[in-house]
Amino acid sequence: MADIYVIGHKAPDTDSICSAIAYARFKREFEGVNAEATRADEINPETKYVLNYFKVDVPPLLGDAKGKKLILVDHNEFSQAVNGIEGAEIIEVLDHHKIDFKYPEPILFHSEPVGATATLIAKKYFEKGTKIPREIAGVLLAAILSDTVVFKSATCTPVDREIALKLAKIVQVDPEKFGVEIKKAKASLKGKTAADILMADFKDYEFKGVKVGIGQVEVFDLQEALEMKKGILREMEKKREEGYGLILMMITDIIKEGTELLAVGKIDVVEKAFGKKVKDGSVYLEGVMSRKKQVVPPVEKAFG
Ligand code: MG
Ligand code: MG
Ligand code: MG
Repeated sequence: MADIYVIGHKAPDTDSICSAIAYARFKREFEGVNAEATRADEINPETKYVLNYFKVDVPPLLGDAKGKKLILVDHNEFSQAVNGIEGAEIIEVLDHHKIDFKYPEPILFHSEPVGATATLIAKKYFEKGTKIPREIAGVLLAAILSDTVVFKSATCTPVDREIALKLAKIVQVDPEKFGVEIKKAKASLKGKTAADILMADFKDYEFKGVKVGIGQVEVFDLQEALEMKKGILREMEKKREEGYGLILMMITDIIKEGTELLAVGKIDVVEKAFGKKVKDGSVYLEGVMSRKKQVVPPVEKAFG
C-alpha cells in the first residue's frame, strides 16, 4: 500500500490521469516518497487510447479517500474531487485552474496559469536534468495536447508549446499529428447516449450559492453532434433536478474553433454572460474552446 495517493479530478480527463501517473513516479524517483497514482472515476476513451499507445497501466480507482494522504493534481475545488475528500489529508496541490481552496493547515500549493498540469510536471522533470523515460514523456505530451486542444485553446501558453516540443523529441512523434490522433479517439460520438456525452467531462461549480454544472465534448463535426442536441437537452433537464440552478454543455468544434453552448436553467445569466440570445436551448460562441478561461469566468461574473 502506498503512503501517498496522487489523484486528479472526477470525470477525469487525460491531464488528470497522466499527471497523476507522471507525478507519482516523480515523487518516488526524486523524493523517495512511496506515492501511487490513482483515479477518481472511469477513464475516457481518449485517455484509454493514450495509455494503450504507451503501454502504461490504468491507475487503480480510489473509491473513497477518507483517511488517505493525497496529492491533488489538475484540480483544487472540493466539488470536483474524489469521494471522501473531506476526510482525507491533503499534503500538496499541483494545478492550473482558478483557485478555490481552503485548508486548515499550511501545505505546498503550486498553481500556474499554463495550459496543462502536465506542463508543470514536465518542467520539474526537465529541471532534474535526467533522461525522461519515453512512456512518461509520452503521457505528459498527450496531456498537454489534450488540454490545449493541440495548441489551439486560449489556455495554451508559449511554455506549453515549448515543453510539448521537447517531449515530442523524446517520444519521436509529430505533436500536431499525434494530437489529432488522440482527439479523434475521444471525439467520436458514435454509439454514445446523450447521458454519456453530457457526463463524460462534467464539472460542478458553485457561483453565489447556486449549483452550476458545466460539461464539454470536443467534436470534429458540429453538425453530427447537433443531431443529438434535443436528447442532450433532455438529459440536462433531468440532471437539473439534482439541485442545479444552471447546467451548461459545451459542444466544441475543434476544426471551426467555436462552441455551441447548450443551456438549461438560468438562461438570463447565460445571455448576460455572453451578450447573446439563447435560441432553442443553445447559442453559438465563436472562438470559444476553453471552459475554464472562456466560459467559467463570464458566467461566474454574470451571477454577481
Ligand atoms: Mg482536467
Ligand atoms: Mg488540466
Ligand atoms: Mg481538461
